[in-house]
Amino acid sequence: MANWSNTDKGMLIVISGPSGVGKGTLCKILLNRVENLFLSISATTRPPRPGEIDGRDYIFLSRELFEEKIKKGEFLEWAKVYNNYYGTPKDIVFQQLRDGKDVVLEIDTQGAAQVKNNYPEGIFIFISPPSIKELKKRIIKRGSDTESSIELRMKSAIDEIKAASEYDYIVLNDDLNQAALNLQSIVLAERCKVSRNTKIVLKLREEFGNDASVN
Ligand code: 5GP
Repeated sequence: MANWSNTDKGMLIVISGPSGVGKGTLCKILLNRVENLFLSISATTRPPRPGEIDGRDYIFLSRELFEEKIKKGEFLEWAKVYNNYYGTPKDIVFQQLRDGKDVVLEIDTQGAAQVKNNYPEGIFIFISPPSIKELKKRIIKRGSDTESSIELRMKSAIDEIKAASEYDYIVLNDDLNQAALNLQSIVLAERCKVSRNTKIVLKLREEFGNDASVN
Protein backbone atom coordinates (compact mmCIF):
# COMPACT_ATOMS: atom_id res chain seq x y z
CA MET A 1 0.00 0.00 0.00
CA ALA A 2 1.38 3.38 -0.94
CA ASN A 3 2.24 5.81 1.84
CA TRP A 4 0.23 8.93 0.98
CA SER A 5 2.62 11.40 2.54
CA ASN A 6 3.21 14.80 1.02
CA THR A 7 6.96 14.38 0.71
CA ASP A 8 8.62 12.10 -1.83
CA LYS A 9 12.07 10.86 -0.87
CA GLY A 10 14.76 10.10 -3.43
CA MET A 11 15.43 6.55 -4.59
CA LEU A 12 18.45 4.56 -3.52
CA ILE A 13 19.72 2.61 -6.53
CA VAL A 14 22.23 -0.13 -5.80
CA ILE A 15 24.29 -1.46 -8.71
CA SER A 16 26.54 -4.51 -8.35
CA GLY A 17 28.24 -7.03 -10.57
CA PRO A 18 31.56 -8.83 -10.84
CA SER A 19 34.80 -7.02 -11.49
CA GLY A 20 35.30 -6.47 -15.23
CA VAL A 21 31.60 -6.65 -16.13
CA GLY A 22 31.54 -2.99 -17.14
CA LYS A 23 29.45 -1.57 -14.29
CA GLY A 24 31.66 1.51 -14.01
CA THR A 25 31.12 2.32 -17.71
CA LEU A 26 27.38 1.63 -17.43
CA CYS A 27 27.06 3.85 -14.34
CA LYS A 28 28.86 6.68 -16.15
CA ILE A 29 26.48 6.42 -19.14
CA LEU A 30 23.49 6.30 -16.76
CA LEU A 31 24.60 9.43 -14.91
CA ASN A 32 25.17 11.25 -18.19
CA ARG A 33 21.78 10.33 -19.58
CA VAL A 34 19.48 10.63 -16.58
CA GLU A 35 19.06 13.95 -14.79
CA ASN A 36 19.00 14.42 -11.05
CA LEU A 37 21.01 11.27 -10.30
CA PHE A 38 23.93 11.38 -7.87
CA LEU A 39 26.72 8.85 -7.49
CA SER A 40 27.72 8.23 -3.90
CA ILE A 41 31.47 8.59 -3.34
CA SER A 42 32.68 5.59 -1.36
CA ALA A 43 35.45 5.56 1.21
CA THR A 44 38.26 3.06 0.73
CA THR A 45 41.61 2.03 2.19
CA ARG A 46 43.02 1.00 -1.19
CA PRO A 47 45.65 3.37 -2.57
CA PRO A 48 44.58 5.68 -5.40
CA ARG A 49 45.25 4.46 -8.94
CA PRO A 50 46.99 6.86 -11.35
CA GLY A 51 44.58 9.64 -12.24
CA GLU A 52 42.21 9.03 -9.32
CA ILE A 53 41.44 12.06 -7.17
CA ASP A 54 40.58 12.05 -3.46
CA GLY A 55 36.98 13.15 -2.97
CA ARG A 56 36.06 12.65 -6.64
CA ASP A 57 36.73 8.95 -7.28
CA TYR A 58 36.90 7.77 -3.68
CA ILE A 59 37.52 9.19 -0.23
CA PHE A 60 40.91 7.60 0.48
CA LEU A 61 41.35 6.76 4.16
CA SER A 62 43.92 5.00 6.31
CA ARG A 63 42.95 1.61 7.73
CA GLU A 64 42.87 3.08 11.26
CA LEU A 65 40.54 5.90 10.32
CA PHE A 66 38.27 3.54 8.36
CA GLU A 67 38.02 1.15 11.34
CA GLU A 68 37.23 4.08 13.63
CA LYS A 69 34.39 5.10 11.31
CA ILE A 70 33.06 1.52 11.31
CA LYS A 71 32.97 1.62 15.14
CA LYS A 72 31.16 4.96 15.10
CA GLY A 73 28.53 3.53 12.73
CA GLU A 74 29.29 6.08 10.01
CA PHE A 75 28.75 3.66 7.10
CA LEU A 76 25.46 2.58 5.57
CA GLU A 77 27.37 -0.55 4.58
CA TRP A 78 30.99 -1.59 4.38
CA ALA A 79 32.89 -4.62 3.13
CA LYS A 80 36.37 -5.99 2.65
CA VAL A 81 36.98 -6.45 -1.06
CA TYR A 82 40.35 -7.85 -2.24
CA ASN A 83 41.86 -7.10 1.20
CA ASN A 84 40.82 -3.46 1.31
CA TYR A 85 37.92 -1.81 3.06
CA TYR A 86 35.19 -0.07 1.05
CA GLY A 87 32.18 1.71 2.55
CA THR A 88 29.29 4.06 1.84
CA PRO A 89 29.15 7.19 4.04
CA LYS A 90 25.70 7.11 5.65
CA ASP A 91 25.00 10.77 6.47
CA ILE A 92 25.63 12.14 2.97
CA VAL A 93 23.47 9.49 1.28
CA PHE A 94 20.56 9.89 3.70
CA GLN A 95 20.70 13.69 3.39
CA GLN A 96 20.51 13.44 -0.42
CA LEU A 97 17.56 11.02 -0.20
CA ARG A 98 15.77 13.37 2.22
CA ASP A 99 16.37 16.21 -0.27
CA GLY A 100 14.53 14.14 -2.90
CA LYS A 101 17.68 13.25 -4.85
CA ASP A 102 18.14 9.81 -6.39
CA VAL A 103 21.41 8.24 -5.30
CA VAL A 104 23.41 5.49 -7.05
CA LEU A 105 25.66 3.14 -5.08
CA GLU A 106 28.14 1.10 -7.11
CA ILE A 107 29.08 -1.51 -4.54
CA ASP A 108 29.88 -5.21 -4.22
CA THR A 109 27.32 -7.91 -3.36
CA GLN A 110 28.30 -8.12 0.35
CA GLY A 111 27.60 -4.41 0.72
CA ALA A 112 24.38 -4.65 -1.29
CA ALA A 113 23.10 -7.37 1.06
CA GLN A 114 23.69 -5.04 4.04
CA VAL A 115 21.87 -2.20 2.30
CA LYS A 116 18.94 -4.54 1.60
CA ASN A 117 18.74 -5.33 5.34
CA ASN A 118 18.98 -1.70 6.43
CA TYR A 119 17.09 -0.11 3.55
CA PRO A 120 14.81 -2.65 1.81
CA GLU A 121 13.04 0.06 -0.21
CA GLY A 122 16.22 0.43 -2.31
CA ILE A 123 16.30 -0.71 -5.94
CA PHE A 124 18.78 -3.50 -6.50
CA ILE A 125 20.26 -4.00 -9.98
CA PHE A 126 22.75 -6.72 -10.91
CA ILE A 127 24.98 -6.34 -13.98
CA SER A 128 25.78 -9.73 -15.42
CA PRO A 129 28.40 -10.81 -17.95
CA PRO A 130 27.20 -12.92 -20.88
CA SER A 131 29.41 -15.80 -19.65
CA ILE A 132 32.28 -16.57 -17.28
CA LYS A 133 34.54 -17.05 -20.32
CA GLU A 134 33.73 -13.59 -21.64
CA LEU A 135 34.29 -12.04 -18.19
CA LYS A 136 37.77 -13.55 -17.97
CA LYS A 137 38.52 -12.28 -21.46
CA ARG A 138 37.47 -8.73 -20.44
CA ILE A 139 39.56 -8.75 -17.24
CA ILE A 140 42.64 -9.95 -19.17
CA LYS A 141 42.03 -7.37 -21.92
CA ARG A 142 41.86 -4.58 -19.30
CA GLY A 143 45.55 -5.32 -18.70
CA SER A 144 45.68 -3.90 -15.17
CA ASP A 145 45.76 -7.22 -13.29
CA THR A 146 48.48 -9.74 -12.53
CA GLU A 147 47.81 -13.45 -13.07
CA SER A 148 47.10 -14.01 -9.36
CA SER A 149 44.82 -10.97 -9.24
CA ILE A 150 42.90 -12.31 -12.28
CA GLU A 151 42.42 -15.63 -10.45
CA LEU A 152 41.24 -13.79 -7.31
CA ARG A 153 38.79 -11.66 -9.32
CA MET A 154 37.44 -14.75 -11.14
CA LYS A 155 36.93 -16.59 -7.82
CA SER A 156 34.99 -13.71 -6.28
CA ALA A 157 33.08 -13.26 -9.58
CA ILE A 158 31.61 -16.71 -9.07
CA ASP A 159 30.46 -15.75 -5.53
CA GLU A 160 29.05 -12.46 -6.81
CA ILE A 161 27.10 -14.16 -9.61
CA LYS A 162 25.54 -16.53 -7.04
CA ALA A 163 24.05 -13.47 -5.31
CA ALA A 164 22.27 -12.28 -8.48
CA SER A 165 18.96 -13.87 -7.45
CA GLU A 166 18.71 -11.48 -4.47
CA TYR A 167 18.40 -8.45 -6.79
CA ASP A 168 15.26 -6.84 -8.26
CA TYR A 169 16.65 -6.48 -11.79
CA ILE A 170 19.33 -8.09 -13.92
CA VAL A 171 21.03 -6.30 -16.81
CA LEU A 172 23.01 -8.52 -19.15
CA ASN A 173 26.03 -6.62 -20.43
CA ASP A 174 26.47 -8.39 -23.74
CA ASP A 175 25.92 -5.36 -25.94
CA LEU A 176 26.88 -2.10 -24.14
CA ASN A 177 24.23 0.07 -25.85
CA GLN A 178 21.42 -2.34 -25.04
CA ALA A 179 22.65 -2.77 -21.44
CA ALA A 180 22.80 1.03 -20.98
CA LEU A 181 19.29 1.39 -22.39
CA ASN A 182 17.97 -1.32 -20.07
CA LEU A 183 19.59 0.30 -17.03
CA GLN A 184 18.22 3.72 -17.94
CA SER A 185 14.75 2.21 -18.53
CA ILE A 186 14.73 0.61 -15.08
CA VAL A 187 15.54 3.92 -13.38
CA LEU A 188 12.98 5.87 -15.41
CA ALA A 189 10.24 3.27 -14.85
CA GLU A 190 10.94 3.25 -11.10
CA ARG A 191 10.57 7.04 -11.10
CA CYS A 192 7.08 6.68 -12.59
CA LYS A 193 5.73 4.43 -9.81
CA VAL A 194 2.57 5.83 -8.22
CA SER A 195 4.04 5.22 -4.76
CA ARG A 196 6.92 7.58 -5.62
CA ASN A 197 4.66 10.31 -6.97
CA THR A 198 2.31 10.96 -4.11
CA LYS A 199 2.61 14.74 -4.55
CA ILE A 200 1.24 14.48 -8.10
CA VAL A 201 -1.55 12.17 -6.97
CA LEU A 202 -2.50 14.49 -4.08
CA LYS A 203 -2.48 17.50 -6.42
CA LEU A 204 -4.72 15.67 -8.88
CA ARG A 205 -7.13 14.79 -6.07
CA GLU A 206 -7.19 18.40 -4.90
CA GLU A 207 -7.70 19.77 -8.39
CA PHE A 208 -10.30 17.29 -9.56
CA GLY A 209 -11.85 16.44 -6.20
CA ASN A 210 -14.58 13.86 -6.36
CA ASP A 211 -16.40 15.64 -9.13
CA ALA A 212 -15.20 14.25 -12.45
CA SER A 213 -17.52 16.48 -14.55
CA VAL A 214 -15.80 19.22 -16.57
CA ASN A 215 -18.03 22.02 -17.84
P1 5GP B 1 37.84 -0.89 -7.31
O1 5GP B 1 38.94 -1.03 -6.31
O2 5GP B 1 38.13 -1.67 -8.57
O3 5GP B 1 37.47 0.55 -7.56
O4 5GP B 1 36.54 -1.57 -6.65
C1 5GP B 1 36.56 -2.90 -6.25
C2 5GP B 1 35.18 -3.35 -5.85
O5 5GP B 1 34.72 -2.65 -4.69
C3 5GP B 1 34.10 -3.16 -6.92
O6 5GP B 1 33.33 -4.35 -7.00
C4 5GP B 1 33.24 -2.04 -6.37
O7 5GP B 1 31.90 -2.14 -6.78
C5 5GP B 1 33.37 -2.28 -4.88
N1 5GP B 1 33.07 -1.08 -4.10
C6 5GP B 1 33.37 0.21 -4.39
N2 5GP B 1 32.90 1.03 -3.44
C7 5GP B 1 32.27 0.24 -2.53
C8 5GP B 1 31.56 0.52 -1.31
O8 5GP B 1 31.38 1.64 -0.86
N3 5GP B 1 31.07 -0.56 -0.65
C9 5GP B 1 31.22 -1.84 -1.10
N4 5GP B 1 30.67 -2.82 -0.39
N5 5GP B 1 31.87 -2.13 -2.24
C10 5GP B 1 32.40 -1.11 -2.94
